[in-house]
Amino acid sequence: MPLNPYSDDQQPWPGLAAKMDPQPDHGEQSYKGRDRLTGKRALVTGGDSGIGRAAAIAFAREGADVAINYHPDEESDARTVIALIEAEGRKAVALPADLRDEAAARKVVDDAVKALGGLEVLVLNAGRQQAEKSIEDITSDAFDATIKTNIYAPFWMAQQALPSLKNGASIIITSSVQAFSPSAHLFDYAQTKAANRAFAQALAKQLAPKGIRVNAVAPGPFWTALQVSGGQFKDKLPEFGADNPLGRPGQPVEIAPIYVLLASDEASYITGECYAATGGSGTGG
Ligand code: NAD
Ligand code: MG
Repeated sequence: MPLNPYSDDQQPWPGLAAKMDPQPDHGEQSYKGRDRLTGKRALVTGGDSGIGRAAAIAFAREGADVAINYHPDEESDARTVIALIEAEGRKAVALPADLRDEAAARKVVDDAVKALGGLEVLVLNAGRQQAEKSIEDITSDAFDATIKTNIYAPFWMAQQALPSLKNGASIIITSSVQAFSPSAHLFDYAQTKAANRAFAQALAKQLAPKGIRVNAVAPGPFWTALQVSGGQFKDKLPEFGADNPLGRPGQPVEIAPIYVLLASDEASYITGECYAATGGSGTGG
């Protein structure tokens, strides 16, 4: 795993994994499948890069067909993931769309269900994080974009997917350690990640009678495009994640096994939970 210090290069939002230094490890070479998701069909939002890319690669290597959604500006990253899924002999579906738009978000679900022929796994992972020093610096438009991406889109997409999800299906939402220990510079984002955790807890209770499980994942610091495209301040990037007990940020592949477990039938008694991977600093709450 690459060690700090990392480059402080920043990119315009939404950022491309292909342009990061060092290159994140999404499991392209390293993830080994063990047939844990054979025959399942999954939709992963934010599947072009970072944690979503790692989940998409792992799902395909575990035997799943995978649709990925991403922002249209991320087409080049998405193509890399589509090629990796197809290299496993699995079906890959590319669904570019801006999830801040309700009609577009709902259409992504419909298109995924149609192209895959059904859906067993829904990973609501797309997220917006922009660091701001003061609450006074957050415009209403920026606040709205964070809420739309991180709270509305998962609501719209889970609602849209529900008629297609059957007994045994799994919904996974990417929350954060920010849900437990909010940082001063992530005032709006941290609130949405707390909402994501509550999403899993409340919806799990609601959907348990249908045999549909809902869980959240709470990553600590992971080296992804989100962090270098406004998620952290430039001067924080070289030492990003270095202050936790493992002394470095996580690589996206290092959280993929949690998504695989939660997607799989092995997790049949796991619902309403929030699984963290923090490099040792814990969730602190
Ligand atoms: P990432 O930038 O690689 O992935 C985020 C993805 O969100 C983008 O690739 C993009 O496809 C998608 N997205 C954002 N806005 C969108 C929009 N309007 N329309 C469509 N897609 C949009 O970064 P990541 O860190 O892998 O982020 C994945 C998830 O992990 C996010 O929910 C993030 O909040 C969460 N998370 C990340 C960290 C970390 O340290 N990297 C920590 C905790 C939680
Ligand atoms: Mg991306």
